[in-house]
Amino acid sequence: MRPVCVACRLKGGLAPLTLTCVEEERNDDVRAGILQCDACGSRYPILDGLPVLVPDLSRYLSDNLFYLTMRRDLSPAVADLLAEATGPGAGLDAIRQHVSSYGWDHWADRDPAEAGAEQVEPGQAARIMAHLLDGIPASLPPGPLLDLGCGAGRTVAELAEHTDQLVLGLDLSVPLARVAQDAVVGGQVAYDRRRGGLHFERRAFDVPAHPRCDIWIADALALPFVDASFALVTAINLLDCVADPSQALAEFGRVLMPDGACALATPFDWSGAATPLANWLGGRAAQSAHKGRPEQALDALLSDGAQAAGSLRRSRPTEEAEWQIRLHDRSSMRYLTHLSWSANALVDVAT
Ligand SMILES: [Zn+2]
Repeated sequence: MRPVCVACRLKGGLAPLTLTCVEEERNDDVRAGILQCDACGSRYPILDGLPVLVPDLSRYLSDNLFYLTMRRDLSPAVADLLAEATGPGAGLDAIRQHVSSYGWDHWADRDPAEAGAEQVEPGQAARIMAHLLDGIPASLPPGPLLDLGCGAGRTVAELAEHTDQLVLGLDLSVPLARVAQDAVVGGQVAYDRRRGGLHFERRAFDVPAHPRCDIWIADALALPFVDASFALVTAINLLDCVADPSQALAEFGRVLMPDGACALATPFDWSGAATPLANWLGGRAAQSAHKGRPEQALDALLSDGAQAAGSLRRSRPTEEAEWQIRLHDRSSMRYLTHLSWSANALVDVAT
């Protein structure tokens, strides 16, 4: 993949990035280096093999410096003590809780140490990706696949097992991108699994490595790619986590090849922290647009008409799927996630 500058991208430009500095390489993979924009001079770091391609780099680095620079080899007992000393909900505990839920959701069905007596069926992310893949056309154009909001990376691995093309996973969460990178590229899953409260247990096991995959840190609203780069774009439980879902859909359509496909799953679990109220799809009073129904609001964005968000058009009927996320031994959250499939409208015009 040849990334473009996301700072230029937000201003409507598509300027290539050049690798101007390589400090560490492993098996043709740049582990540490710098990408620079030929047009505006913006520089983006590659850190532990993860390119950080976000539009407001200073702000992102300030907000995430702890996650980007924290050591990851803390032994279980020392990690427990640090988490207790710094307190529940603080940096270390917050990361462990987050990674526990998504590490489990994505990989626990591949963990030989799992006893199988859990309240939640593990491997939910893989199940939903399989459901989405059931609905895409049998023949996609040759080209790479893009998984947005890839979390702990299982969905990237599932895509890799369905294609011989490159698969790229993008996320903005540093701790999850690191788990994804280690699992998908390195073939090793490691995370602390929450039993309850501040009680965690270390999980570490091998999974198949996928050399044709990579994980980047990037923003779904400013994708670092030229137009028409991907044959398939997938996003599970992402659309309600971005600041502007309509802009995100337009961006998905932009990077999709003319005869490519897009498959989305979203539980419409809105929060003001992630998405300003004005940009929610539904989730508001019955007197508001689409009677507050998020499914109808999404359908309008994926249909011909004034509200269409870019070039994506719904290609088949929507479906619903259950998705449960494990919080600890005795707690989980259950969602109904809305599945929708779309194609690039340019194809409909041509055919
Ligand atoms: Zn630039």
